[in-house]
Amino acid sequence: MASAESQLADTLARALRDLRISVTDRCQFRCTYCMPREVFGRDFAFLPRAELLTFEELARAARVFARLGARKLRLTGGEPLLRRDLERLVAMLAGIDGIADIALTTNGALLAGKAGALASAGLRRVTVSLDSLDDAVFMALNDAAFPAGRVLEAIAAAADAGLAPVKVNMVVRRGVNDESILPMAGHFRNSGHVLRFIEYMDVGTTNGWRLDEVVPAAQIISLIDRQWPVEPIAPAYPGEVASRYRYRDGAGEIGVIASVTQPFCRGCTRARLSADGKLYTCLFAGTGHDLRGPLRRGDSDQALGEQVAAIWARRTDRYSERRTLQTGRTQQVTRKVEMSHIGG
Ligand code: SAM
Repeated sequence: MASAESQLADTLARALRDLRISVTDRCQFRCTYCMPREVFGRDFAFLPRAELLTFEELARAARVFARLGARKLRLTGGEPLLRRDLERLVAMLAGIDGIADIALTTNGALLAGKAGALASAGLRRVTVSLDSLDDAVFMALNDAAFPAGRVLEAIAAAADAGLAPVKVNMVVRRGVNDESILPMAGHFRNSGHVLRFIEYMDVGTTNGWRLDEVVPAAQIISLIDRQWPVEPIAPAYPGEVASRYRYRDGAGEIGVIASVTQPFCRGCTRARLSADGKLYTCLFAGTGHDLRGPLRRGDSDQALGEQVAAIWARRTDRYSERRTLQTGRTQQVTRKVEMSHIGG
């Protein structure tokens, strides 16, 4: 493993440290902000199985990224637990030299039955998405009649399997679930889990995003602070996307992910691999770079690594920062993001 490879940096001197792997573009939920039913309905053409990277291809790709400096892997989707035997992939990834951390982001629907096997296979951490404790609100958001109680059971099962503390992601959309902020904060205080509020992001033309539906992270924090005073704490590691706070009374930690109001492109060390093997250097990148072709035509790991390194070295992405600069945060943009392919 050449040390020169781990010095890989893009045009803004950002290293490649994290790889998000979308293992499927399918999901059982139809969250209105992510895969709305009007777009991802009965007729939506999801990827045929043959177009998905196999576990062997995913593990090979991860090995190539690890040689270039990636240390953390996150499995996402779509809903990653819809990919059968995901624990087999986790075990393959856990054996890769240089990989220090494997995490999973899930809606929790299938997690309770899988948490033990995933943890035994080498999964280190889990993030579970939950946007409200109020079933009327949660079901209107997930549009799949899925109750919040089952997600809470999944969080408990993950903790029992040794995956605590669980991170809980709540996307906040004004007028939709902002009244759930305090009940969610109250529920997860003293739980040992870390609730993170995510600003509702523009994923282009599919979710009808409007700036006035974003509740700025600063507002979320001051709302909580009035009820339960909080203070900021240092990032757990350089480039952490969430800003962390702790309750002054010792009831635990919360986080905010202010992708809209305080973009963090400068510290972004993440690459994304879509379910069909495209490398995206930004969540908002309009196009990806095909790695499935090279993987399937038998390119060597060395050749694959050179291709990825060349793509990363040319990377200029700072989409969210530019948008904020250009629009003064007043306009909507219409870039389409394949959230289901490249994960959130
Ligand atoms: N299905 C899994 C889940 O529900 O966690 C993984 C994929 S999902 C795309 C990953 C994360 O992205 C979730 O926490 C989800 O809430 C978040 N997300 C999706 N669309 C978003 C949006 N428009 N703005 C902010 N976060 C979003």
